[in-house]
Amino acid sequence: MKTVIQEFAVGTWYILQMAHLSSGQLVKYKKLCICSGGTPKLIAENHPHVLGIRDTESVQLFQNRLKDASRIILVGNGGIATELVYELEGIQVIWVLKDKSMTATFVDPGAGQFFLHQVNAPKKKETISKRQQFNLSGFQTLTPLSALLSPRKESKETWPLYVELTNGKIYGCDFLVSATGVIPSFPKVLSKVTELKVSPEDVGIMVDKEMRTSVADVFAAGDVCTPAWQRSPLWFQMRLWTQARQMGHHAANCMVASFKNEQGHTWSDFAFEVFAHMTQFFGFKVVLLGLFNGQGLGTDYEVLLRVTKGEEYVKAILKDGKLKGAILIGDTNLEETFENLLLNQMDLSPFKDDLLNPNIDIEDFFD
Ligand SMILES: Cc1cc2nc3c(=O)[nH]c(=O)nc-3n(C[C@H](O)[C@H](O)[C@H](O)COP(=O)(O)OP(=O)(O)OC[C@H]3O[C@@H](n4cnc5c(N)ncnc54)[C@H](O)[C@@H]3O)c2cc1C
Repeated sequence: MKTVIQEFAVGTWYILQMAHLSSGQLVKYKKLCICSGGTPKLIAENHPHVLGIRDTESVQLFQNRLKDASRIILVGNGGIATELVYELEGIQVIWVLKDKSMTATFVDPGAGQFFLHQVNAPKKKETISKRQQFNLSGFQTLTPLSALLSPRKESKETWPLYVELTNGKIYGCDFLVSATGVIPSFPKVLSKVTELKVSPEDVGIMVDKEMRTSVADVFAAGDVCTPAWQRSPLWFQMRLWTQARQMGHHAANCMVASFKNEQGHTWSDFAFEVFAHMTQFFGFKVVLLGLFNGQGLGTDYEVLLRVTKGEEYVKAILKDGKLKGAILIGDTNLEETFENLLLNQMDLSPFKDDLLNPNIDIEDFFD
C-alpha cells in the first residue's frame, strides 16, 4: 500500500531508521530514498531584488515581478538562462555571462555563435509577446558579491538595483535573475554517529551503482545525488529531468531487489551507458549525445562539422575513428543513428568523410 504524507522532512535518524517531519511526527522506514533535489545557487541570499528560479512557485513570483519591470539582469549561462532569453518579451534583458560564448553549459562556442544570430531574430513560434529589446552585455563576468549590490545613481534614472561587472560597467535594473545552477539539498542528519558521504566536488550524496548511499537501507536519486560508481566513458551526470527520472526508476528497482535480498541487481539499464539529452533553444530542437563537448577527451579528438546558418548545426566528435559525442541542432534526423554509433563504437574511419554528407542517408547506410 502507498501512503502520501505532505510534510517537510527536517531530518533523519539513520540509526533508528526514522524520518523527522516538520509537524514533529517521526516516520519509521525500512528503506529510505532521498530525492530532495537541489536549491538554486543564488548570487545573493535573501535579497529583495535577486530572484532564483527553481519551481512553479518561483516562476510565479518571477512573473509577478516582471509585470512592473522594464529592465532585468540575467546571470547564468545554462538552459534556464537561455530559455528565459528566448521567452522574455516586452522587457529589456541584460544577459551577463562569465564564459566566452553563450549557452556554454550545454554547447560549444560554435553552436553558441549559431544561437547568437537568433537572439534578436523573429521567433519561430507564436508567443504572448509585444516587443523585445535585448542587450547582450558583451561577455562579462560579475564582480564578487561585495561590489555587487550597492545602490548607486546612473546618469538618467534611478533603479532599485545596480550591478557592477568586472569590466567596471555598472547597470541598473528592476531585479536580477540568478540562474547559476543548483546545489544538492537534503534533510539534516540527526545523529553524528552515522555518516552520509557526500561528494567533495558538488556536495551531492554519493551513491553506488545500485543507488545506495553510504548508510545502510538509504538510497538517493536525482539532483540530490552524485554517482560514485565506475561510470561508462560516454556518460556523465548533468542534473537534468531525464537523468533524475532514470535514477528514480533505477533506485526503485534496486530497493525492491534489496527487499527481496537479491544480490547484485542486474545492471541492464542502458540509461547510464551514453549521455543523451533533448531540449529546445531559441525554438531549435537540440540533441546532445555522449561527450558532446569533448568532455574529458583533452585536445586529442577530431571534429566533423556541418552548419547551415539559421537552420542546423551538426557536430560529431571522433576519437580513434569512433564516435564519442555529438551536438545536433535543428531537424537533423541523425539522433537515432548517432546514438547507435555511440553505443556500438563502430570504427568509422572508412566512412568519416561521408558521415555528415547531407546527400547520403546515413540511417540507411548503417542499417
Ligand atoms: C527552472 C528550471 C528549469 C529546468 N529545465 C529543465 C529542462 O528543460 N530539462 C531538464 O532536463 N531539466 C531541467 N531542469 C532540471 C530539472 O528540473 C532537475 O534536474 C529535476 O527536476 C531533478 O529532479 P529531482 O526529483 O531530483 O528534484 P526536484 O525536481 O528538485 O524535486 C525535489 C522535491 O523534493 C522536495 N523537497 C526538498 N527537500 C525536501 C524535504 N526536506 N522534505 C520534503 N520534500 C523536500 C522539493 O520541494 C521538490 O518538490 C530545470 C531546473 C530548473 C530549476
